[in-house]
Amino acid sequence: MRKPIIAANWKMHKTVAEAVAFIQALKGKLPDSNQVDSVICMPAISLFAGVKEAKETGIKIGAQNMYFEKAGAFTGEISPIMLEDLSVSYVILGHSERRGIFQESNEMIQKKVMAAYLHHLIPIVCCGESLAEHEMGKTNEIVKNQVLSAFSACTKEQVTRSVIAYEPIWAIGTGKSSSAADADETCGYIRSVIEERFGTDAAEKIRIQYGGSVKPDNISEYIKKENIDGALVGGASLEPESFLQLLEAGKQ
Ligand code: PGA
Repeated sequence: MRKPIIAANWKMHKTVAEAVAFIQALKGKLPDSNQVDSVICMPAISLFAGVKEAKETGIKIGAQNMYFEKAGAFTGEISPIMLEDLSVSYVILGHSERRGIFQESNEMIQKKVMAAYLHHLIPIVCCGESLAEHEMGKTNEIVKNQVLSAFSACTKEQVTRSVIAYEPIWAIGTGKSSSAADADETCGYIRSVIEERFGTDAAEKIRIQYGGSVKPDNISEYIKKENIDGALVGGASLEPESFLQLLEAGKQ
């Protein structure tokens, strides 16, 4: 049985003070961490305060990106060592906004995935097709390519501990979510790709989230599907009440 994982992706929202206030607002209301993993991926500037505030709440903190090198002349970047030093638990890698707006390639994402494992961070590896690719029936081809590339240098054990977020690009921030049946089918396909490359055990254990316009009123449809183990949520994760409802619905 895979434990569900609900992760907030705040993107470029909230100041440090707002991030701290958000976590304070969750205290005493969080579901049992044996039933669901509750993760907040916040802007890098809030990570230090976020980890401190989340201590002993059961909430795990994640970053939204990092560079793959340990240190060096990479102006504006943050390194996996810095995240590890802060006791950050997760890092989103290969989000479609990183791939699209910031031109991150599959090759770069693969290096970041390896750097995450080296520094005890769990990668939430994003994949998903554009609207044009979706309409051309290329979804499986696209996600297979992205997933196999991201994990190409990984061991079976590393893959087993990872999280994949399937996020159709046309569903992100648009209010147009994929149907639960379609999302489940693609997540099942991704699982079969993992099985073929890394074996049945890895395929059974890896957690695959759906993301793209998930809200408190539609999350249950996704969560109850066999191949969907949680959600990566942008817009609906920005208010404590809404995030708590998502966590509650995500419980095992
Ligand atoms: P959304 O974003 O929930 O606002 O659609 C999801 C994401 O980009 O991770």
